[in-house]
Amino acid sequence: AKKSGRNRFSFFTAGMRDAAWARMKLIDELRHALPQRQLDVYYQPIVELARGATVKAEALLRWHHPQAGLMLPDSFIGLAEETGLIGEIGDWVLGQAAALAREWAARQGGPFQISVNKSPVEFMSKTPVRNWDTYLARDAPGQQCLSVEITEGVLLNDSPWVRDKLASLHNCGVELTIDDFGTGYASLAYLKKFKVDYLKIDQSFVQDMDSGGDSRVFAETIIVMAHKLGLKVIAEGVETAEQRDWLKAAGCDYAQGYLFSAAVPAADFMALLGAAP
Ligand code: C2E
Ligand code: CA
Ligand code: CA
Ligand code: CA
Repeated sequence: AKKSGRNRFSFFTAGMRDAAWARMKLIDELRHALPQRQLDVYYQPIVELARGATVKAEALLRWHHPQAGLMLPDSFIGLAEETGLIGEIGDWVLGQAAALAREWAARQGGPFQISVNKSPVEFMSKTPVRNWDTYLARDAPGQQCLSVEITEGVLLNDSPWVRDKLASLHNCGVELTIDDFGTGYASLAYLKKFKVDYLKIDQSFVQDMDSGGDSRVFAETIIVMAHKLGLKVIAEGVETAEQRDWLKAAGCDYAQGYLFSAAVPAADFMALLGAAP
């Protein structure tokens, strides 16, 4: 930068300074987002394909930012992970989901499960289990009304603290879903070892399906393999009736996507139950 002259150098540093300042401001705002009740959890229905009934939902975090408006997780989860705020935020999401799963199960008169995303950071930190077990034993007494979604990378990191946290969730009846399946290592060895319950086929494969070819072969293979191992399969990002019909014919158990509904606020979710296309 020195050789590029005084003006370019100062332009560069000013840009850097602005970016660093914007980042620090966002971190500060994120720190206050939870106490100031700006965070919200939206729910996307998950449909059982054989019956066309909504039997589960995925919890998806939202931030009602006072200036920027509705912010999607991809724009702030990374910051939450870097700053460690994800611990407190993740616990809060789990608590919200646990309470609602029980409420919706009661109102539907049958089992209802909510699936919560957990960041690798929440598993990989060496800090002891964030008392998930005591807290879940109170909120969700073994009704399998909760599932936790993690990516394959978490299981490949075969460390004692990851195993402890998975075991404590399992002991409370929380099921385990492998998210974005097929985009990572897709190693099979860990599926049995960690008592995985669901594989979620990544939306990139679902959206490629219409053009035929490899994505269909891939999805079929996952479904057959998962069933042989005693696991259930969820397809995400289902946007068309053709994708739904193909997945149903291939034996896929569950689907979610804009065809059924985008994620909606908790208050609007009840209206969606029983109205799957
Ligand atoms: P994900 O877990 O893979 O979630 C699926 C994303 O696809 C969601 O985006 C969802 O709104 C979107 N989606 C659903 N149906 C369709 C569809 O038919 N077509 C398309 N194109 N997209 C669809 P969202 O809500 O923006 O979340 C992005 C990511 O943020 C999630 O990806 C997840 O990794 C992360 N995330 C969300 N909530 C939480 C949370 O509470 N904790 C943590 N650690 N991560 C979260
Ligand atoms: Ca997910
Ligand atoms: Ca996913
Ligand atoms: Ca994803």
